[in-house]
Amino acid sequence: MSELDRKRDRTPAPQDWTYAPAPESRDVVSIAEQYGHFVGGEWLEPAETYETISPSSEEPLARVGQGMQQDVDRAVGAARGAFADGWSSLPGSERAKYLFRIARLLQERAREFAVLESLNGGKPIKESRDVDLPLAAAHFFYYAGWADKLEYAFPNRRPRAVGVAGQIIPWNFPLLMLSWKIAPALACGNTVVLKPAETTPLTALLFCDVLRQAELPPGVVNIVTGDGRTGAAIVEHPDVDKIAFTGSTEVGKAIQRQLAGTGKKLTLELGGKAANIVFDDCALDQAVEGIVNGIYFNQGHVCCAGSRLFVQESIAEPLIEKLKRRLTTLRVGDPLDKNTDVGAINSAMQLDKIKELVAAGVEEGAEIYQPPCTLPEKGYWFAPTVFTNVAQSYRIAQEEIFGPVLSVLTFRTPEEAVEKANNTPYGLSAGVWTEKGSRILWMAQRLRAGVVWANTFNRFDPSSPFGGYKESGFGREGGRHGLEPYLRFDE
Ligand code: NDP
Repeated sequence: MSELDRKRDRTPAPQDWTYAPAPESRDVVSIAEQYGHFVGGEWLEPAETYETISPSSEEPLARVGQGMQQDVDRAVGAARGAFADGWSSLPGSERAKYLFRIARLLQERAREFAVLESLNGGKPIKESRDVDLPLAAAHFFYYAGWADKLEYAFPNRRPRAVGVAGQIIPWNFPLLMLSWKIAPALACGNTVVLKPAETTPLTALLFCDVLRQAELPPGVVNIVTGDGRTGAAIVEHPDVDKIAFTGSTEVGKAIQRQLAGTGKKLTLELGGKAANIVFDDCALDQAVEGIVNGIYFNQGHVCCAGSRLFVQESIAEPLIEKLKRRLTTLRVGDPLDKNTDVGAINSAMQLDKIKELVAAGVEEGAEIYQPPCTLPEKGYWFAPTVFTNVAQSYRIAQEEIFGPVLSVLTFRTPEEAVEKANNTPYGLSAGVWTEKGSRILWMAQRLRAGVVWANTFNRFDPSSPFGGYKESGFGREGGRHGLEPYLRFDE
C-alpha cells in the first residue's frame, strides 16, 4: 500500500449506536438564590441584581450583584487596606501557605466546582473536571512555590509588590482565568479586585468560600460581579495600580487608550486566530485528533483555538475526509453528561455572533460541512462546523469566531505555510504537525505566535508562559514571566 493510500485508509465508520446517558449529579452543588459582592471578607448587599442562567437549558440559576461605582470603591478600599495592613509585608513563605491552602481546597472541592462551571458556562463536565479544575489548582500550587523565591527569580533587582491589582476575566474559562490572575498577584504580595464575566460569575463566587476556608486575610481578594460597566469602573479607579485584562481585542484596545499616561501597569490577553499547520509527513490520525481538540475543545470558546487549519495540499483530501468522519462521532449535548464532547454556546449573544460569521462564510463562497446531530431545543447550541474552499480574505479566515467553526486552507511549501499563518492581526498560538524535528524548529522560529505547539494542541502548564504578539495583547501569564507584571523593581 502506498504512503498516500495508507493515509487515505478510512477510519472506522461511525457505529449506529448511542451512549446511554451518564449525567453527573448536580447535588454536590448548592446555589444560593442571590449573591452579593465579596468585599473585605464579607458579603456586600448589592443595590442592583441580574439573573445568571444555564446556557444549556436557559434555566435561571441565581441572582447576582450588578457592581456599581460605590461597590468598586469599597472593594478597592478594602484591597488597599489589606495591602497596607500587612499582606504586602508578610514574608513570602507565609503568603505561600495561603496559596497552598487554596490549591488543596480547590482539589478537595473539585467536583463541586466542575459541576458549577459546567452548569453556568455550558462546557462539558469532562473538560471542567479534567482540564479547568486540575489546571486551576496547579496554578495556585505553582505560584505558591515562587512566593518566597522572588529575589532568586530576579537576582539583583529587589522585587516588590505593585499594590492593588484590578483583574477582569472572560467567560470561557471562568475559574481557570481567575486562578491565572489571582495566584501570581498574591504570590507577589499584591491585593486584588476581580470581576468575573457577566454570564459566568458563579464559580468566582464559590471561590470566595474557599478564601474563607483558607482564612485568607479579609480584603486581600475582593470579587465584584457585574457587566462591562463594573469592569470599566475598576479600570478607571485611581487607586488601582495594575490592570490585568483577558477578553476581546476591542475592549482591550479601549482599556489601553484609557490607561495611557496614568502610570498604571497593564497586561492584555486578547483574541486569536491560530494556525494549525499540518505537513504531509505527519501522523495523520494523531493530527486529526489534534485538529478536533484544537477547535472543538470548549466549543471553540478558546482564545488560542486552532481556528485556521493549514493542510499541505498533497494530503488535503484524505485529511478532510478523516476529519469529517471524526466529526460525526462528536457528541453534542448536555454539558453535565460525562460522554458529551461539545457543550452549549455560552450565551445568546455569542451564538448570534457565531451564526453571523458562519452566514458570512457561506455567503463569501466557502463550502460548509456539519455532521448530522440533533441539537437540544432549549438553550444555545451550534453544531461543529468545518469550512473548506476558504480564501484568506474571507471573514471566517480573518476574524475570531470564538465558536466550534474551523476554516480549512491549504499550502504547498513551508515558506508558504509561514506566510499564510502569519497573515493575521493576531499572534497568540500556532500548531505544527510533522515528524521532522528540524522542521518544527524552523517553523517555530518564524511563526509570530506566543505559543507554538508541536504535534499537539491546547496544552497548558502553569510553568509555561502564555501570551500574545500583535493584537493578541502583551504581557505573559504563567511561569516566571507571569510574576513580572505584578512586581516593581528597585534597581
Ligand atoms: P469582552 O472583552 O467584552 O469581555 C471580557 C471581560 O471584560 C468581561 O468580564 C466583560 O464584562 C469585561 N468588559 C466589557 N467591557 C468592558 C470595559 N469597557 N471595561 C472593562 N471591562 C469590560 O468580551 P465579550 O464577552 O463581549 O466577548 C466578545 C468577543 O470577544 C467574543 O466573541 C470573542 O471573540 C472575544 N473574546 C475573547 C476572549 C479571549 O480570551 N481572547 C475571551 C472572551 C471573549 P461582561 O462579561 O459584563 O461583558
